[in-house]
Amino acid sequence: MDSRSRPKRTASSRFIVLVAGDLLGIAAATLSPHPVGAAEWPAAYIRALPDEAFAVIEGTPEGVRLRRLPHHDRTGALDLPHLRSALARWHQVRWRDPAAAAAAREHLEEHSARLRAVGRPRGAGGTD
Ligand SMILES: [Zn+2]
Repeated sequence: MDSRSRPKRTASSRFIVLVAGDLLGIAAATLSPHPVGAAEWPAAYIRALPDEAFAVIEGTPEGVRLRRLPHHDRTGALDLPHLRSALARWHQVRWRDPAAAAAAREHLEEHSARLRAVGRPRGAGGTD
């Protein structure tokens, strides 16, 4: 298959499907110097992360803990692709508690503000 010989309509309808399917993933990838795959941790890895790796932890009346928006790796270092991804995905989370949503947003934006204040970090995992 030679995609270059295809008419433009095929390409644009493909684009629309892609956008509808994973708009925020693409947005996160666009901001990230890493490919999309680098901004995804396996579920098992996320489960093993300490609570501090998450923006906020919500509780349900049933006693289930919902750890939201992981963005620190297991060493506790800030992970830039995941910070960007967490900011992009904040709107997608089905928050139970508006206060938790606000706290998560504040936490993530504080990281962003600090990074901007310090300037561009040299490495993706750069913390001090
Ligand atoms: Zn954090």
